[in-house]
Amino acid sequence: MIPLIDLKAQHESIRSELDEAVARVVDSSEFVLGGELARFEDEFARYCGAAHAVGVGNGTDALILALKALGVGEGDEVVTTPFTFSASAEAIIHAGAKPVFVDIEAGTLNLDPARLDDALSLRTKAIIPVHLFGQPCRMDAIIEIAEEHGVAVVEDSAQAHGARYGGRRTGSFGAAGCFSFYPGKNLGALGDAGIVVSSSRMIAERVRMLRDHGRKEKYTHEVVGFNSRLDCLQAAVLSVKLRRLDEWNERRRKHAAHYRRLLTGDERVGLPEVSEGAEHVYHLFVVRVPDRDRVVERMRGEGIGVGVHYPAPLHLQASFRELGYGAGDFPVAEKAAAEVLSLPVYPELSETQIEFISEVLGRSLQRR
Ligand SMILES: *Cc1c(COP(=O)(O)O)cnc(C)c1O
Repeated sequence: MIPLIDLKAQHESIRSELDEAVARVVDSSEFVLGGELARFEDEFARYCGAAHAVGVGNGTDALILALKALGVGEGDEVVTTPFTFSASAEAIIHAGAKPVFVDIEAGTLNLDPARLDDALSLRTKAIIPVHLFGQPCRMDAIIEIAEEHGVAVVEDSAQAHGARYGGRRTGSFGAAGCFSFYPGKNLGALGDAGIVVSSSRMIAERVRMLRDHGRKEKYTHEVVGFNSRLDCLQAAVLSVKLRRLDEWNERRRKHAAHYRRLLTGDERVGLPEVSEGAEHVYHLFVVRVPDRDRVVERMRGEGIGVGVHYPAPLHLQASFRELGYGAGDFPVAEKAAAEVLSLPVYPELSETQIEFISEVLGRSLQRR
């Protein structure tokens, strides 16, 4: 059995440091806000090359609070991709605005900057590029278009901790960068957690206020806020894991390169394209195959934990029906949803396991 992700293997390798971090927080009895969180926020901001970081309850809240901090609300539109996890668009609705989708590039599966112009209107307040599967979007083009139209960029970097574009870390390009530390992400907590990074002190301060009941002081509430704080136990754990992130991402990249060596030349398998200037961190290694559902069934039957990210684009989900989109509106995303297959790529995998997975994939693609 090879699972899609293996958190037990990861935690075994750092078990004593995790135990120590948890014990330190228990001893301090400081669980919500405080020194442990401030320290991790500093570390993560520095890691991303941003001036500020504000820990929040999860990645979805990171997006909601960032949008609200930018003043996005009722009557506004926010442009994003239909080929992403639901949270990218949910956050727009929770902020009070309306998601507007643009189709993706067939090669990278990221939002296509060439289609942005058509999606922007006078109501557009922000663009949310999603660095899907760990590959940065074409941020130079996106930032240029955003500046031209005077709209903000909020990066959904929930799958791209440590990825770089033109040498710069994701999360540091836009007005705000939003990360999730859901356990299965490249940097994951032992539960839910998230963060907003920003180079603007004003935006960081607004998020800081919004995450804590809209207050700056104990019982002085400036705005109606939320209860969405990254707690100290998670911050201490994340601090331990952040020290390993580059090494883990490097191993993911090595695994991806090995898959490419093994699968290149098999015309049934579409390999993920990496755009120029992008440093992919392979949160997921996603290939495209014909008759995908049958391949999934066969591979799972042989003990390989493959995944499908995502089986349906958001404009065809019942939850977003009211946006009024229909089949055929975003053909590139729809085709991708029918063909994508995620292979295990977690750092602790061995080369032998990758060879076995590739072999099973080849076998599963045979006609009979
Ligand atoms: C995981 C994820 C989120 C949401 O993060 P949570 O911490 O689960 O709320 C948002 N966007 C994308 C692309 C994600 O993969």
